[in-house]
Amino acid sequence: PVRVRFAPSPTGNLHVGGARTALFNYLFARSKGGKFVLRIEDTDLERSTRESEEAVLRDLSWLGLEWDEGPGVGGDYGPYRQSERNSLYKQYAEKLRESGHVYCCFCSNEELEKMKVVAKLKNLPPVYTGKWASATNEEVEEELAKGTPYTYRFRVPEGSLKINDIIRGEVTWNLATLGDFVIMRSNGQPVYNFCVTVDDATMAISHVIRAEEHLPNTLRQALIYKALGFPMPHFAHVSLILAPDRSKLSKRHGATSVTQFREMGYLPQAMVNYLALLGWGDGTENEFFTLDQLVEKFTIERVNKSGAVFDSTKLRWMNGHYLRGHPEEEFTNLIGEHWKTSGLLTVSAGPFIDDAAQLLKDGIDLITDAEKALVIFLSYPLNLTLRSQDAEPVLQDNLSEFSASLLGAYESGDLVSALESQASWQKWVKEFGKSRNRKGKSLFMPIRLLLTGKLHGPDLGASVLLLHKAGTTSILAPEVG
Ligand code: GLU
Repeated sequence: PVRVRFAPSPTGNLHVGGARTALFNYLFARSKGGKFVLRIEDTDLERSTRESEEAVLRDLSWLGLEWDEGPGVGGDYGPYRQSERNSLYKQYAEKLRESGHVYCCFCSNEELEKMKVVAKLKNLPPVYTGKWASATNEEVEEELAKGTPYTYRFRVPEGSLKINDIIRGEVTWNLATLGDFVIMRSNGQPVYNFCVTVDDATMAISHVIRAEEHLPNTLRQALIYKALGFPMPHFAHVSLILAPDRSKLSKRHGATSVTQFREMGYLPQAMVNYLALLGWGDGTENEFFTLDQLVEKFTIERVNKSGAVFDSTKLRWMNGHYLRGHPEEEFTNLIGEHWKTSGLLTVSAGPFIDDAAQLLKDGIDLITDAEKALVIFLSYPLNLTLRSQDAEPVLQDNLSEFSASLLGAYESGDLVSALESQASWQKWVKEFGKSRNRKGKSLFMPIRLLLTGKLHGPDLGASVLLLHKAGTTSILAPEVG
């Protein structure tokens, strides 16, 4: 049976790379009728926190990646936190010692340092060459009796080791470059690679799907697997997520955690869809997939081996697709609620909001775009004289006379009464243009700029009518109205 796991270290927020790894595991499990296990790798007690764990769980749930076993859910293979599995690690370490795959090493740090220096001078790999690999029982007993601190070292065999990675193909390591390595420290703390192996083995994980950066760990883990006598899982190492400059994606490139995107107003559907496309496609031109459709289409063989570039512009665009894809009423409610919670409006529903949401729709990819879009309606009544100074250089037009007459029309009430309907507005604007000897762009561009403060936007007539509506209904929050 297919059993996969996502194994985050709770040392910070869920990175988009981690989220993609979780997604691929989830899709693989669901498409194969298998189980998706969540395991918390909190062996690094200093860096791991419960807050981080909770944040990771919350973000996975938000993405819709429900796990079948793990924290909060339980399961037959628990506990699901490494910090709660210590007795298991001890038990398997002893087992390996009994079978001779592991031996006690009493070397002091000074001795180990010396080995490194000697190896360097001789141009040899810095591998363990101490005597404890071949010590007699008596020698060991003697040190134990003295109470000398010791580690457990794994006896690396000779030869080479090969795995068949589902994504990367055949990977071979020369074991001579790997010295006997420590699996348990002298304070009894098991070492990371050992814990992961014991966990994957005892949780009956069939496929290890994880980030490429863990490929070097696979060598040690595979050796331990063999020594424990468990059937080896299949490995699939997913390539890195890169920034547009093809360096490793990091904080300096902007938002990188799921929490950040969630807080910025991204929709989980858009996140999941976009993350799936980072290194995967169904082989057609289609780029839009719901989580259910991904489950249906996903195959691990189609996951690309080269790095995938994280394109936040595309993610934003994709979010717009999902946001605008809501049924009209739902979209309006979402936008209205946002205007209300962001303090721009005092109510979240009403004819103005219906009209404004539909008018501004095309410019809204992210819910927070709605704030900027609404700004044109928040400057009523208008300050035309101030605006004309900004407008002139932009339009390369002498607008002093034009804006004076627009202001005149506003002050006399002509403009305001024209804002009663589309028909009256159109009639007015036509006459106004005639009287100023302007038409087309040279008429509409300055009007738009002077009335809304923007060069571009949705239909001018609809915009100014709505502008008027905003000004005459008491829905603007007092601090902005
Ligand atoms: N805990 C590791 C990480 O967060 C994952 C290890 C693994 O998948 O084997 O990067």
